[in-house]
Amino acid sequence: MTSNPLALITSYLRDDGPIVVENPANGEVVGRIASHDADQVSAIIDKADTARIAWAKLTAKERAKLMRAWHDLVMANADDLARIMTLESGKPLAESKGEVTYGAGYIEWFAEEGKRAYGETIPGFSPKSRIVTILQPVGTCAAITPWNFPLAMITRKVAPALAAGCSMVVKPAEATPLTALALEALAQQAGIPEDLFRIVPTKTSSAVGNLFCSHPKVRKLSFTGSTKVGQILMAQAAQQITRLSLELGGNAPFIVFDDADLDAAVEGVIASKYRNAGQTCVCANRLLVQDSIHDAFVEKLKARIGTLKMGDGMAEGVNLGPLIDAKEAARVADVVKETIGAGGKLVVGGEEANGAFYAPTVITGVTQDMEIAREEIFGPVAPVIRFTDEAEAIRIANDTIYGLAAYFYSRDIGRIWRVMEGLEYGMVAINEGILSSEVAPFGGVKQSGMGREGSRHGLSEYMELKYGLMGGI
Ligand code: ADP
Repeated sequence: MTSNPLALITSYLRDDGPIVVENPANGEVVGRIASHDADQVSAIIDKADTARIAWAKLTAKERAKLMRAWHDLVMANADDLARIMTLESGKPLAESKGEVTYGAGYIEWFAEEGKRAYGETIPGFSPKSRIVTILQPVGTCAAITPWNFPLAMITRKVAPALAAGCSMVVKPAEATPLTALALEALAQQAGIPEDLFRIVPTKTSSAVGNLFCSHPKVRKLSFTGSTKVGQILMAQAAQQITRLSLELGGNAPFIVFDDADLDAAVEGVIASKYRNAGQTCVCANRLLVQDSIHDAFVEKLKARIGTLKMGDGMAEGVNLGPLIDAKEAARVADVVKETIGAGGKLVVGGEEANGAFYAPTVITGVTQDMEIAREEIFGPVAPVIRFTDEAEAIRIANDTIYGLAAYFYSRDIGRIWRVMEGLEYGMVAINEGILSSEVAPFGGVKQSGMGREGSRHGLSEYMELKYGLMGGI
């Protein structure tokens, strides 16, 4: 660990850079960097499109070797990467370290999986011909990523793209470009060709987003962010029928049945709701708690919340950092006020925002028609909805336009199958509060998006299937 974590990215820092990255914990400037305009990004895409030709000709094993070197450098620099991440995102340092390991996992996993991009032979329709399929890289890809996971949202797109033989140009979120640039610097140190993977921070996100959808050399766009921006990009992608992977908003139900282990369920809520101060797309958004255990569960949750320590993510023992900025904290405070006004009952928290900080909050007496139950909260606030039976829980859980992650706690094997099958979500965690991993397919249904990241399904997002018919036999 160097004393200055920014040493990794000094070559990118500019005293007069128009992108000013601030520490949400105290408002201090972390660093200033250049902004890419659409013309510059266009030239970078052209270069990436040239670089991918030689890259795709390497064997998967040769690509894997360079990717493994990149993975190893990320892990060797994990402490500095985590500190950069905490400085620009506010995330508690322990969570940032966890994200580096988790994010690096995608690089390692896809480097290996690239070796298994198997085609097939298919029994044919004529004795004179044979059918084969081969998988080929999609080509030059682009990605747009959010600030809540400044490192992992990039590696889970770039790693499968590179493993498949594609090139990738990434526009990181305005708030967290420094971690992204550090990843680029380490990829170059590892020997990954410079033009193959580029990070393009910009102040003109919408112009660059439109360019990604209109540049003739971009074959695929992968986006993680809000459903609203996903809709804009999907409409723009119609111009060239650009392939899309969209990982959008969620409204995760977290259901606690009367046969659940309540202590385990409380720990699940702490992990799922309060991690990253509630700013993840898979955060529990609504706690659905069965009548008979409602009060006991809320009591236990309240006691456990009392043990959380809020503060600057760099400080020892802090497990709840600030939100990404003061505007977001004020928005969350408004959501809470509105919910109380609509009849919600405050159990803990609920104070005004303090700069970018917002205290962990629980509100009971919430109903599914309230605004808080319909939209992503993106803050450390847990609304509790009562339900009577399994059918009602499933009905409330599915009463949303979103379908990303769902959670439930139960020990009954019959109920576990019924509820898992009944939830209209891309991912369901049972008796667990955290579900994302490079080995599993992450993604949503309904307005939470399309496509999967992680696992062998994540690789196929960056490959085209070609059917070859061999006749004249
Ligand atoms: P979040 O709520 O996570 O900030 P957004 O969807 O607003 O979600 O942002 C996610 C990413 O999308 C960021 O990198 C942001 O800069 C980018 N973005 C926002 N608006 C647009 C747009 N019109 N076109 C392309 N990218 C955009």
